Amino acid sequence: MADYDVIIIGSGPGGYVCAIRCAQLGLKTACVEGRDTLGGTCLNVGCIPSKAMLHASEMYHEATTHFDTMGIVGGSPKIDLTKMQAYKQSTVDTNTKGIEFLFKKNKITWLKGWGKITAPGEVTVGDETHKARNIVIATGSEASPLKGVEIDEKMIVTSTGALELTKIPKKLAIIGAGVIGLELGSVYARLGSEVTVLEYLDQITPGMDLEVCKSFQKMLTKQGLTFVLGAAVQGVEKMKAKAKVSYTLRKDDSAQSLDADIVLVATGRRPFTDNLGLSDIGVKMTERGQVAIDDHWRTNIENIYAIGDAVVGPMLAHKAEDEGMAVAETIAGQHGHVNYGVIPGVIYTAPEVASVGQTEEQLKEAGRAYKVGKFSFMGNARAKSHFMGDGFVKLLADKETDRILGCHVIGPMAGDLIHEVCVAMEFGASAEDLARTCHAHPTFSEAMREAALACGDGAIHA
Ligand code: NAD
Repeated sequence: MADYDVIIIGSGPGGYVCAIRCAQLGLKTACVEGRDTLGGTCLNVGCIPSKAMLHASEMYHEATTHFDTMGIVGGSPKIDLTKMQAYKQSTVDTNTKGIEFLFKKNKITWLKGWGKITAPGEVTVGDETHKARNIVIATGSEASPLKGVEIDEKMIVTSTGALELTKIPKKLAIIGAGVIGLELGSVYARLGSEVTVLEYLDQITPGMDLEVCKSFQKMLTKQGLTFVLGAAVQGVEKMKAKAKVSYTLRKDDSAQSLDADIVLVATGRRPFTDNLGLSDIGVKMTERGQVAIDDHWRTNIENIYAIGDAVVGPMLAHKAEDEGMAVAETIAGQHGHVNYGVIPGVIYTAPEVASVGQTEEQLKEAGRAYKVGKFSFMGNARAKSHFMGDGFVKLLADKETDRILGCHVIGPMAGDLIHEVCVAMEFGASAEDLARTCHAHPTFSEAMREAALACGDGAIHA
């Protein structure tokens, strides 16, 4: 007799969502988590605390730049980092406790400790062994190590340490101009740090629509971030009170270095599957260290599934959540499905950057005939009144059929605005469908409609 229908290992967005959906579908469910709190990297040391720091630093920036113009006068605000960290922690606590509440509500057992699959259908946590009809690996990811760099989470940090700093660094060096580097870089730039970002490639945020990428870099540069592109980092040396980053410029192979109080290593993450017992029971892995799965998230061992950062695909919380729900439905005998063509990506800088579907470069490479509808936030009344006119919406549609193929937004609330295009794409909508949908005035969303109008006879406010 199995103790559970499903045991999920890991309680991040993939694992906890999978657990809740399993319970909702009538499956006896347990979730293994070794941290003191539920929610995984995202809630404890990733997305949620960084969003709190982004929000607080944006409010500080707003207070020091636009309040006076809006007639809000008073003493200039100062930063109390200890208090800001306490606010950040309270945001984390509310969210992790929220998951605990949802587990109780859905009668999900939290098996406390680090789980190991000791045999197919068997998970050991501490001294106890539990039998399960199905096992889901949802163990997430960890920061990838970088040769020549030893992380101490004090002076040389990953995102985890960068969210726990006790002092605002005077000089912050960031290795990697990806999502983590730019989000945390903009937090500390707003709080007063001198931020330099070293990026191996010749552009920031690889994979992003190039036009958006160029605008994004310009805006971040205006905010005070310095970029060194084509910089191959060789190592970081810890000195007494500072660290020295050595790198070579790829264009001429010249050796360079940079001093900083804090060095943030943000060069990507890798699947976290340590001590899970996977090789002992013969679970196949990919060359990149991910758990190998088929189209239904099944590993090569019967009734063991894997989802989220531990498997192939973008390392995004919402991708993991969707896979968690789909696996739960599959285990319950339904037809779980994830549309990988419509997974939005958001960078929570100010302004935000959001995208879904294909980029212009991808369409060109595929030889697809397309049209572009663009609209600047300068033509959006709401954005202008909020000092947020920088940025634009770019909608890509099939030249013949007008079907929406992708959308890229840099501007206010981009991370929320993108979802109307996600829904439209799920329904196979055309740009005209979006253009003919009434949008309330004055809203930022009107910019989305205007970009859709620009795919046809033209935007109104352009
Ligand atoms: P990333 O893959 O987004 O970016 C890493 C960057 O580092 C790349 O631009 C890469 O070219 C560069 N790089 C790699 N090695 C280098 C070297 N030796 N020297 C200089 N540059 C180097 O990785 P990340 O920012 O660390 O984020 C990790 C994962 O977490 C990503 O998959 C990301 O999607 C996810 N994440 C997402 C969000 C979000 O959705 N808002 C936020 C945080 C993290």
